[in-house]
Amino acid sequence: MGGAALEVRDLVVGYGPVRALRSVSLQVPEGSVVTVLGGNGAGKSTLLRAISRALSFHGGSVTGGTVHFGGRPLHTLSPDRVVAAGVSQVPEGRQVFARMTVEDNLRAGALGSSGDRAAKAAALHRVRELFPVLAERSRQRAGLLSGGEQQMLAVGRALMASPTLLLLDEPSLGLAPLMAARIADTIREINAQGTSVLLVEQNAALALRLASHAYVLEVGEITLAGPADELAASDEVRRRYLGVVDEDAAADASRAEAAHPVLSRWEG
Ligand code: ATP
Repeated sequence: MGGAALEVRDLVVGYGPVRALRSVSLQVPEGSVVTVLGGNGAGKSTLLRAISRALSFHGGSVTGGTVHFGGRPLHTLSPDRVVAAGVSQVPEGRQVFARMTVEDNLRAGALGSSGDRAAKAAALHRVRELFPVLAERSRQRAGLLSGGEQQMLAVGRALMASPTLLLLDEPSLGLAPLMAARIADTIREINAQGTSVLLVEQNAALALRLASHAYVLEVGEITLAGPADELAASDEVRRRYLGVVDEDAAADASRAEAAHPVLSRWEG
């Protein structure tokens, strides 16, 4: 998988007595898009919070394991030092500052940046090119933007710190298919510009199209891992995460219907 930019090893996380992650290990190679798939409560947000050191804001803590980025330990840093080290998170639920203007939201994203004025100006230019609508609405209050536009603003705000790794928590959540596809195109573009991406998603179809490598997280444990195209073709992922009907079971059901048409109709 090339040189590992992000290396998570044997991570154990709890919220008080609740064990949310059990010995989770994964890698995000430099320049790649990697996805973690999982259903509700699997531990996806917890994983990103543990990497960005935001767990304490949610009453959680890391009780074991390590996180390294570019060979440097992140698990000993404060959240602002993690941002300065090049790792920015876009939290779930497009948490923009609704009463602040679009422009001020973006400025707030640059606060944690270790870059100088020129770097911040370059970051703003990049965000405006990626999301022209944010440039058009710069003086509008963020709360007036549509859901999709707010998601763009949340991503744009994270990019203002010029991260080398972007942590994305379910960016397609609650968006219409067309808007989700636009967000996916933008993630591809962000990655093509040199930013690695760790994407956690319930929308497996979208995530597996974007990622080169994928992990499946279930109840706090990694149960499957591999190249995204191999996982997309696996029966387990197709059935559980891509909503593909088990063809053998469907064939059995239709044979039963043919053999006992009346019974099947009555039962149905
Ligand atoms: P979803 O897709 O629904 O957002 P998720 O995969 O992101 O789910 P997490 O939010 O990380 O899952 O939750 C993992 C486990 O940790 C769940 O059992 C959840 O109830 C628990 N949990 C999450 N946040 C907290 C919290 N702040 N306090 C206590 N328990 C929590």
